Amino acid sequence: MKGVFILGATGSIGENALKVLQQNSNEFSLTGISFFKNVEKAYEISQKFRPKYIFNQYNGNEKVFDHGKMLSDQEELLSLLQSEEVDIVISGISGFAGLNLNLVAAKSGKLLLIANKESIVIAGAHFIKACNDYNTKIIPIDSEHNAISQCLDHNYDQKDIYKITLTASGGPFVGKPISELGKVSIEDALEHPNWEMGKKISIDSATMVNKCLELIEASVLFDIPASKLDVVIHPQSILHSMVTYVDGSTIAQLSNPSMEIPIANAMRSTKRLTIDFKELFIEKTNLEFFPLSLDHNEIIDLAYDVINLGGTRGVVFNAANEVAVESFLSSKISFPKIFNVITETYNSFDHSNMCNLTEINEYNDYARNMAIEVIKSHTN
Ligand code: NDP
Ligand code: MG
Repeated sequence: MKGVFILGATGSIGENALKVLQQNSNEFSLTGISFFKNVEKAYEISQKFRPKYIFNQYNGNEKVFDHGKMLSDQEELLSLLQSEEVDIVISGISGFAGLNLNLVAAKSGKLLLIANKESIVIAGAHFIKACNDYNTKIIPIDSEHNAISQCLDHNYDQKDIYKITLTASGGPFVGKPISELGKVSIEDALEHPNWEMGKKISIDSATMVNKCLELIEASVLFDIPASKLDVVIHPQSILHSMVTYVDGSTIAQLSNPSMEIPIANAMRSTKRLTIDFKELFIEKTNLEFFPLSLDHNEIIDLAYDVINLGGTRGVVFNAANEVAVESFLSSKISFPKIFNVITETYNSFDHSNMCNLTEINEYNDYARNMAIEVIKSHTN
């Protein structure tokens, strides 16, 4: 029996991971979960899956749970993740908030299924180094990156790769110019045509910032330069990404959009796990592929800039986006203003080669404050 610890069990990734676990309960058991504010959901999970440990850094919830040991200390969490009780860690916390616990998970020395792309964008080098130092094996569960990992030759040589193409559904506003989206509501923007996800990533999908984060994530995880990374719009979300080799072969991974599929793929050892899935092509299916619109090229170019420059650029880009998304979700700015906040904040910082986690936290604060100033300048 393999022990699984889910960071962010109460979120959308957590929910999908639990579905995979439930369908393979002969092979996996839930050792522990973490949650943030959603005590009811955490309680529901604890009743159903009986995890031995429940981690919440903010104390005060002990009385709610009638079984399972409550943990609130990061050092204690690290010891548990490094112990024999855990074989697989799933990182499903969203945003910058996931950075600390992701770095704890990187030291687990176990199989680490990574969904939190923001921490890779912010601190990719630190994250990879910690994984290497502690012998932690990373498998991405972001659908595009999981697809790429399935398409890459075993022990691939970067020279064999002509390019890696990430697909993007384009979100709910695909094909519409940003200038026509001034009146869209929060509900419209959250309504993704193919995927059910948390709020932040749903807005990121509508703005294409999700694809920016994913390009940066791909460059870090697969050690691929910006010049070999491409994006194509594919509204059906069936082909999740592809690798084109220098001999002209393109290998792609296809499946109906369900996060259970990449999670099941990442959790397996040698044999594939069996899960329920919707079969492809049992009815007439059009697969379409379009180049990016000029509007979206502008934001995607920032992602290439982040990859090329490194240093603090990822922290600034991510912080500007997080503030912009929070402001849109609290009705402080309109949808198109998200783009202004990101580009103006990003352009107001000079490049700096940062080296440590203290500086990452400082830059995150500077960039968040700058983004708030930019918002004020647009709303006054
Ligand atoms: P959700 O918003 O659904 O869930 C977020 C999880 O993180 C919840 O468990 C939440 O706890 C926890 N959390 C939030 N803030 C904090 C904090 N400050 N400290 C500790 N825990 C916190 O997000 P998703 O599941 O959609 O996304 C999670 C990550 O996975 C993101 O980085 C996203 O980009 C990535 N991802 C998601 C996909 C999806 O299909 N959803 C697909 C590919 C990648 P609580 O609810 O208890 O407050
Ligand atoms: Mg994705």
